[in-house]
Amino acid sequence: MKITKIVGYYIELPLIEPFVINYATYHCMHSVIVEMHTDAGIVGYGEGVADEHVTGESAEGIYANLQWIAPKLIGQDPLNIESMHQYLNSLILGNPALKASIDIALYDILGKHANLPVYQLLGGKTVERLDYAKVLSVKSIEATRKDIDTLLASGYKVIKVKLGDNINDDIQKLKQILDYIKDTDAEIRVDCNQAWSNPKAIVQAFSSIHDPKLKWIEQPLKYNDMDGMKYLYDHMNVSLMADEMIKDVDDLVRLKTPHFNLLNVKLMKCGGIHNAVKLIHVAEALGIECQIGSMVESSIGSAAGYHTAMALENVKTTELTGPLLFSQDIGDLTYNIPYVDLGNGAGLGIQIDTNALAKLTVKQFEV
Ligand SMILES: [Mg+2]
Repeated sequence: MKITKIVGYYIELPLIEPFVINYATYHCMHSVIVEMHTDAGIVGYGEGVADEHVTGESAEGIYANLQWIAPKLIGQDPLNIESMHQYLNSLILGNPALKASIDIALYDILGKHANLPVYQLLGGKTVERLDYAKVLSVKSIEATRKDIDTLLASGYKVIKVKLGDNINDDIQKLKQILDYIKDTDAEIRVDCNQAWSNPKAIVQAFSSIHDPKLKWIEQPLKYNDMDGMKYLYDHMNVSLMADEMIKDVDDLVRLKTPHFNLLNVKLMKCGGIHNAVKLIHVAEALGIECQIGSMVESSIGSAAGYHTAMALENVKTTELTGPLLFSQDIGDLTYNIPYVDLGNGAGLGIQIDTNALAKLTVKQFEV
């Protein structure tokens, strides 16, 4: 099989309400869509969503790099995924979201060619269905309580709270949230997105929280504060999840001893499905359980994440709820709270709404 044409779309996905984390507020998500055509008549779709604060990429950068890389892919065999990654690595260092956009399209083509869902190609189902956590923006306690009421009423069981103020205010808010859900069967995960800085103060603050409903604290410290993470790991009774600290398998093997219990794997951090599989296997060998999260992606990137999660036993949780945050999406990945329905369709198993894609496109190129 040969790649005959690539269309790149720079799109803006409109959010129902602004998505707020401690370092940024997003009103829409910028995404780059890869539409890869082949001489077998199969068309695969991929997506790259940048986070400047995590991988150093921007949506403009992904689009610009895709424009000069896409012509080099014409004529190549999309089924040779490992060698395609080697080739991409020879062209450009890093740029994992760019590589993910190509990788996901390759897997979509492979699945459509084999007439199998991507998860089947990666090892098959390890669970019958996947549930997901709902992520709440940084908000006041009053607004957060209101959001929690809405979520519990809709059927969610797992709520991820974004914190990222000073540690004392955050701990007070966390206690209020835990108190608010204490008579429900909900559980809480916390993501600080690197906001805290003093490991001793964190340990001190958490010494007053002993609540089994608090499942873990994600990336409390700056991405490169390995010593701080070790201090927390040695002194706290709450599980720790690494996110910004570990992008890919190279980051993980560089650590002699990982001082965290859990790892948030994102296709956009590691370069797509192929590299996520490597990372998740190495994490498994180190005794670290994984989650697959996302950068707030459309149905394409989210489906790719769910297929990977479905096939790998070491992925225990997912947070891929981008499509639920958009007022318009370009695909039809189906959510039945609190489960996602991957279906049995070939490849990513989603239909692309070409009208929506055209409507949300800011610019596009074709080679
Ligand atoms: Mg995170």
